[in-house]
Amino acid sequence: MKYKIPIFKLKFPLSYRLKFLRKANEILTADRPIGESKYVKEFETKFSQLSNVKYSIACSNGTAAIDLALRAINVTDKEVIIPSNTFFATSVAVTNAGGKVKLVDIEDENFSIDPKKLRKKITKNIGAVIIVHIGGIISKHIEEIVAICKKYNVPLIEDAAHAHCSTFKGISAGSWGDLGCFSFFPTKVMTTGEGGMVTTNNDVLADRVRSLKNFGRDNSNAGICINPLGNNYKINELAGLMGSLECDRVISRIDKRNKLVQRYVDNLKGSSYIPVLQEEGYCSYYKMVLKTDIDREWLRSYCKKHNITLTGEVYNTPIHKQPLYSDYKNNRLPVTNKVCANHICPPLYPELTEKEIDYICQILKKAENEK
Ligand SMILES: *Cc1c(COP(=O)(O)O)cnc(C)c1O
Repeated sequence: MKYKIPIFKLKFPLSYRLKFLRKANEILTADRPIGESKYVKEFETKFSQLSNVKYSIACSNGTAAIDLALRAINVTDKEVIIPSNTFFATSVAVTNAGGKVKLVDIEDENFSIDPKKLRKKITKNIGAVIIVHIGGIISKHIEEIVAICKKYNVPLIEDAAHAHCSTFKGISAGSWGDLGCFSFFPTKVMTTGEGGMVTTNNDVLADRVRSLKNFGRDNSNAGICINPLGNNYKINELAGLMGSLECDRVISRIDKRNKLVQRYVDNLKGSSYIPVLQEEGYCSYYKMVLKTDIDREWLRSYCKKHNITLTGEVYNTPIHKQPLYSDYKNNRLPVTNKVCANHICPPLYPELTEKEIDYICQILKKAENEK
């Protein structure tokens, strides 16, 4: 059998498409606005149930979700601590919300903020800390990170763009911190094309996020604008409908991701590739992260020659090595530097089969011997 394994595949089965069309028809023929209404509410309610959280507030994308969380706290002119190992959407949101980026190093075992290093950087004047659940993995040191933030009275925001439905010690991604931020970009664990969600258990913050995504208007008096940091980050009913349908299938899709990750782990046992895993709880496994010392570009073209496209790393170029962030280029972030340079992310999406994973692992092991 000849394999060809693309970077990404996303399928919507016929039953899903028919349901979408039937309900879209209802939206387009109902006598109500196609802006946020019934289906956006349904999406938010289902997402709250999935994430075990009091409030879920839909917004236009994951970057807007982080931006909203930061504006709800108000970090204007304050420093916001983020890991340098993140997608630049995290730092873009900090800047757009009026904050100033401050970078912290990560742990080698889970690619997430190192609590020891956070302790050295945090003060009571920090506006917020953003933790990023890389690949969907909730750090096993999350309780320590929460405690550090509490001690200094600094709000904790979770960039949970990878971590839909991940749980650790029974607590879901998006409810460890004061606010959680999710993305529904097409490659993420669930998608609405473009879309985002802010989660929180805090009544005041929820109210503020609802206002901020709606121009900063008063939630109980639509004619009055009360919040100077507002913007328009609302979504529409068709996106709400899709989000609602995605909620119905996300757990079975994450279960499939877990099965495929286990297949990688079993196949690569005894090899030099070291999988990065969440050892306890439930993980969304947005990515299969494999630590390796093999030259990445060589490995990438080796896989390409065998019809396998490796996916984007998490991450390849940390914030302090981005040209836009040259002010940070001399930051001492040794673990970030090491981790960013020494891992790959082979394909992982529910549309893959276990046989395809076997093939990918066979090629990776072959590469190990030929390097
Ligand atoms: C995808 C992603 C975002 C941004 O989400 P969008 O919906 O694309 O705006 C933010 N942070 C991380 C870690 C991401 O992977």
